[in-house]
Amino acid sequence: MTRPSRLLVLASVLAAACGGGGGGSPTSPSQAPPTGLPAGATLTFVSGETGAPVSGAAVTIGAASYQTDGAGTLRLAAATAFRSVVEARHPAYLDRETYLRTADEVRFTLWPRQGSHGLDEAFTSRLVYTSTDVGDGEPGGDDPLYRLAPGQPMALRPTTEIRGDAALFGLLEDGAGIVNDVVGQNLFYVDAAGTASGPGFTVELKPEDPYCDADTYAFVDYSGRGLVISGGRVIYCEALWYFHQRPASRDLRDYFLATLVHELGHAYGLNHSTSNRDLMYSGGHWEKYARDHGFYSGREELAMRLMWQRRAGTKFPDDDRSGIGTLSGFRRIVRN
Ligand SMILES: [Zn+2]
Repeated sequence: MTRPSRLLVLASVLAAACGGGGGGSPTSPSQAPPTGLPAGATLTFVSGETGAPVSGAAVTIGAASYQTDGAGTLRLAAATAFRSVVEARHPAYLDRETYLRTADEVRFTLWPRQGSHGLDEAFTSRLVYTSTDVGDGEPGGDDPLYRLAPGQPMALRPTTEIRGDAALFGLLEDGAGIVNDVVGQNLFYVDAAGTASGPGFTVELKPEDPYCDADTYAFVDYSGRGLVISGGRVIYCEALWYFHQRPASRDLRDYFLATLVHELGHAYGLNHSTSNRDLMYSGGHWEKYARDHGFYSGREELAMRLMWQRRAGTKFPDDDRSGIGTLSGFRRIVRN
């Protein structure tokens, strides 16, 4: 609930600035919402990977210092205003910097430094926080986190050409299902009738597109606001005949579906991996990894689930404080 909660925070700050006080119901328009948490309120810190409590985390909230207990919890020693900075440190997790935002957001997930399946800091930095414009050998980590909005499924809108090709059209469903299953959310759906309104991505076979050059075989062109991706285009730089030049159905899965799942990874907000064991590998030939390893690797799936817990605009290693106010529009072309 990234954007609504930001608005809520703004509303509470404005209320405080206007001298609004009292502990009125947040749903009542005539009373200001609460401006903080009372002494004794409990905050909980858990692993973003497993949900297990993180005990022994050193947490500072405003000027106060705490340590989480065996249940991953701490109790506020004094009333604490919303917008107080929360910093959580634990050797097993990336340093988290965030705000105390609302009374509903008192459970804080921490991003593991070393997760399962080989997820580590370098991989997190590269996949989530490094623009695909940055070369594999160059340091990254300067990109903010882009993501989809929660609760707002993206339509995949194939062209009539793809709609008329039963094999390719069916693979769109497969691709959407693969991404949805990873995150456990209805992120993408195929607009089978071609009539759905709302946000989405067109899916086109368009070798004549100006962004299709000798080094580009597919790309995503997306836009949004406040680093929340709100839709765009998934373009294959190959014509229909290319996908049917070999008859075996596995070739379609290899060439069309693996590329689709890779591009939907970008549409989700992923950048590139430098490892050819990941589907988001920058070097292409994703069909090989789809065939040999399934589609996304285990660590890619973990990163996607962790990303879903993070606000748009979060910065590496795990700082979401500056995301607020980044409401300008953007457009990005992510090649291959
Ligand atoms: Zn790519």
